[in-house]
Amino acid sequence: MNCPHWGDTDVRESERDCPRCGQECGYPNVRKAGELAEVAALAVRYRAARQGAVDRAAEAEFDCYEKVVASSQIVMSRHEKAVLQLLESDNALWVSFYQQTGAGMRRPEDTEIEGDRGVADSRLFPGYREMICFAVLSVNGFGPPYYGRTSLTFDEALLSHRASVFEENSVNLLRRSNFRLAPGFRTQWNFRGKLAATKAAPRILPGLADKDFEALLMTPDVNAPDPDFVEVHVFGFLHHTAISRIQFWPLRDKKDQPFRTRIREICEDRKIEVKE
Ligand SMILES: [Zn+2]
Repeated sequence: MNCPHWGDTDVRESERDCPRCGQECGYPNVRKAGELAEVAALAVRYRAARQGAVDRAAEAEFDCYEKVVASSQIVMSRHEKAVLQLLESDNALWVSFYQQTGAGMRRPEDTEIEGDRGVADSRLFPGYREMICFAVLSVNGFGPPYYGRTSLTFDEALLSHRASVFEENSVNLLRRSNFRLAPGFRTQWNFRGKLAATKAAPRILPGLADKDFEALLMTPDVNAPDPDFVEVHVFGFLHHTAISRIQFWPLRDKKDQPFRTRIREICEDRKIEVKE
């Protein structure tokens, strides 16, 4: 794209700042999700999905689900101990997996999925994968417990301008696409309802009510090892001051109780809402 400030300079897909004037040109993941090819391809998918719902007499349910997801939030699942480390220090930041491994703070796992994850991330975020943190869309404040039994809701106002929304667990979709993803599976924050409704359309049936929508957005089986969800990609770091709410899945391991107690104390001080 051309520099929006001075023009006449090619700002590359991976660059947030213009190499010529140094000014910010938008978050690369958000820019990508807003590209004409992406928007047009999603519009085609959306029209077909909605027409399918009309044909099944589930038009009202489709529109209702789209509306519900249009007010969904950014939620991350983490283990209690990790949440506590973030909350306890003003200096703590959550960074991407690649920043952690790059800094020698974490070992990459020696599994096939981790290898594929690296390829998928390089395809999706060429040149800036180390700047992306992963989250999910949630309408009930819960994230998939597979990734940790503490769910953190982040303040939309602080993250949505740097967030893009993706069809599903990106490594799964990239694998099925042989790591060559067609456009139309990602979008900007304000269109998350359209993307989620397009994805869920075949499962949107007449008579579906509000209570059924949570299970359309995220795997209802809380113990699923490969949960389905709509993924959110957030550019940049995360600080505890961006957390608006914390929710716990039922306790499974007693040794996490002290961490939960301490998280509650800190949240009370900081006026962060906690729900069990
Ligand atoms: Zn410039």
